Amino acid sequence: MVTGIVAGRLALVTGAGSGIGRAACQVLSREGATVIAADLNYDSAMETIKTIPLASGANAVGDHSAIELEVSQSASVQKALDTAMEHYKAPPTIIVNSAGIVRDNWLLKMSEEDFDKVVAVNLKGTFLVMQTFAKALTAASLPGSIINISSIVGKYGNMGQVNYVGSKAGVVGMSRVAALELGKSNIRVNAILPGFIDTPIIKSVPEKVMKEFLARIPLGRQADPVEVGELITYLASEKSSYVNGAVIDIAGGL
Ligand code: NAD
Repeated sequence: MVTGIVAGRLALVTGAGSGIGRAACQVLSREGATVIAADLNYDSAMETIKTIPLASGANAVGDHSAIELEVSQSASVQKALDTAMEHYKAPPTIIVNSAGIVRDNWLLKMSEEDFDKVVAVNLKGTFLVMQTFAKALTAASLPGSIINISSIVGKYGNMGQVNYVGSKAGVVGMSRVAALELGKSNIRVNAILPGFIDTPIIKSVPEKVMKEFLARIPLGRQADPVEVGELITYLASEKSSYVNGAVIDIAGGL
């Protein structure tokens, strides 16, 4: 018998090959879910699966799996859903949109290409995954929980990230719309706003900027990605059954 707050549930996590996505897979599986780790980089998604114990027990949906997914391409997202349906015979009822990229530059120097790329992955990718998987849930009359990873800078802005901040503010707006539209189908949609989380994505932040940020964080430290995985898993579970359309900071008070 699998136990835990998401026992017997199937979860799709995008960007699962690294950082917050990987930690989400680890906490979700610790709490009883079977996870589909999806990433542009299949090998890294597979590495994530190797870090978690096999799903077992009478109510387990099946074994964890890894898939290659390019979130900004609708055909790839549809293929991910088809693969999940074929393998598990039902759509995932937990969907975590963690795939994300940065291509930083000043507003006056930002190339159109870098703007489009970041919006395509962070904003359009989140839209495509939400739409495709929510369609499958409503078709199967299943309840679900969608957790979209925005960023604290989507709320406050950040110099040098006009494309990233625009995409992350958009994720908040889209999540609110999705929560309004999908609530009647008992599909909850929430957005979380991480601050400084210790993952590869922040390695490009210059040391000086990093120090300034740390000085502004009341808790005085970066977060471990597992701390974000805990919030994601809470939102995925029935412990948060009346939390819908929420936008939750996880930024140490920043
Ligand atoms: P990360 O770079 O460690 O992981 C991102 C993962 O997304 C990688 O495995 C990458 O291969 C995958 N990915 C990139 N493009 C993809 C695509 N087109 N399709 C599918 N997968 C793709 O970053 P992270 O820190 O784990 O970030 C996860 C999410 O959290 C991102 O959306 C990021 O913007 C957000 N976030 C991170 C922080 C932080 O401090 N780390 C803060 C705020 C928000």
